Amino acid sequence: MNEHYDLAVIGGGSGGYGAALAGARLGLSVILIEKGEILGGNAVRGGVNCWEMGVGGTGIPFDLYKRMKQIPESIGIYSFGRHGSWYRREEERYRLLGGEQVIDPSMKYADSLLRHGCEGMGKDEPFCRKHWHGVPFEPEIMAKVMLDMLNETGRCRTLLNTAFTDVDTTENRVRTIQLDNGETITADTCIDGTADALVCKAAGVKTVFGQESRETYNEPGAPEQANQHVNGVTLIFRITKKEKPGLCPLPTGIPDEIWWSDHTPWVCMNHYPNGDRNMNMLPTLEGGEFMKLGYQKAREECLRRVYAYWHRAQTTMDEFQNYRISWIAPALGVRESNRIIGEYVLTQSDLLAGLSGQTHSDVITIADHAMDTHGRDTGRQGCGELAEPYGVPFRCLIPKGFRNLLIACRAASFSSIAASSCRLSRTMMQLGQAAGTAAFVAKANGLDVCETPHEELRQRLREQHVALDWPMPAETAAWIHQE
Ligand SMILES: Cc1cc2nc3c(=O)[nH]c(=O)nc-3n(C[C@H](O)[C@H](O)[C@H](O)COP(=O)(O)OP(=O)(O)OC[C@H]3O[C@@H](n4cnc5c(N)ncnc54)[C@H](O)[C@@H]3O)c2cc1C
Repeated sequence: MNEHYDLAVIGGGSGGYGAALAGARLGLSVILIEKGEILGGNAVRGGVNCWEMGVGGTGIPFDLYKRMKQIPESIGIYSFGRHGSWYRREEERYRLLGGEQVIDPSMKYADSLLRHGCEGMGKDEPFCRKHWHGVPFEPEIMAKVMLDMLNETGRCRTLLNTAFTDVDTTENRVRTIQLDNGETITADTCIDGTADALVCKAAGVKTVFGQESRETYNEPGAPEQANQHVNGVTLIFRITKKEKPGLCPLPTGIPDEIWWSDHTPWVCMNHYPNGDRNMNMLPTLEGGEFMKLGYQKAREECLRRVYAYWHRAQTTMDEFQNYRISWIAPALGVRESNRIIGEYVLTQSDLLAGLSGQTHSDVITIADHAMDTHGRDTGRQGCGELAEPYGVPFRCLIPKGFRNLLIACRAASFSSIAASSCRLSRTMMQLGQAAGTAAFVAKANGLDVCETPHEELRQRLREQHVALDWPMPAETAAWIHQE
């Protein structure tokens, strides 16, 4: 039997969750299909337990934050502790190869809503210390609260452990969606939140992979020739204090050395609210190696590297002998893969122009994270930190030519450089919120979602406290300061 919904969302990561919740809250009947056993995607199964600092994030992410704050040891705001770029020999025993972010109870959510205006980590320590505050959380609690919030709408059917397998498409319209539990569903609007554009690909949308050439979009920071480079992947792990200090045994078959690089990888070390540490190696495996090995073999290799890295950390920085590995993420943290070609492609020009230079009438969220290729091609023209926030147009969510299909995940219509800034978890949630809201606005007007009236969509988003301007409008600021 076919079940029909106003909105079908495939993928329950940050983007898919935002889409499903926004649509259901506005009254749509929604189905959310997630292949994992838990919601949250990369932020939960990939172990990325932190929303990095940045503008935007005033809509559903703030709602989620407020809900989680009611649960002890669930979420916080960090300030910088140590950072390898700011090492002071006289104060620190050794240079931490990376950065440590420590939960700071004096900080509020509003403090986490700024990134731009800094020359960079190495160059501007006072700015970073004063203004950069991310939001670390306990991933499994987040996943549970996400599910609670969806269930509370009474209008969202969430299917976990269920994958979409294919779609039928005619006349640029998704007609049916097939699931691996044998169900076939139909929906007025379908939103792809799979991170890899899997629904879009199945529907025949054009996708790209790797870096575009400079002339493709006239991006000064792009390489001369297009290539297949993608960011490295990371297998995140968690460490917990142990009773007796000492080295953890190296599992059989793991060499007593870092064999894949001539240096020890840096680590971004976020504190969990309960005091454990989240270890995010930058990276565990280069993007090219990942592509060559394929997912399963890459994960096995990453696991070996995690143990070798941990051995190195314990033998060179003795504080780590007080900790043991207590959890390794079930999913690899993959930073980028396919991206679709949409009705508009966000590029480096948008990011450099910023809101003051952009002229789009359909901006649905703002962002200001650096153009961050993790040190690859360091110094590419115009890449790095931004001077002001930029807007993401709704058209980046519409696969070119498609009528009832949107995308709300890191595979939206961004150039490689734009994606390196735009892909953060809260930005993805805001894309989702815009996509779910668009499905509602389109239905209310009897239109296909690709025809959603821009001003009405933006008005609906403002009503949900989504910041579309910078500086943040007074009403949004007042809302956020209510915390
Ligand atoms: C190692 C690493 C560190 C990062 N650090 C930070 C950070 O500190 N702060 C920050 O804000 N961002 C960070 N990011 C970026 C950010 O976490 C991701 O870009 C973002 O979470 C992606 O969200 P998404 O919704 O696009 O995809 P995901 O969260 O990956 O969600 C996609 C979902 O689709 C599901 N899915 C896939 N295929 C199917 C199918 N066939 N059927 C049904 N479901 C399917 C998946 O199971 C998954 O749940 C980091 C990323 C990585 C990899």
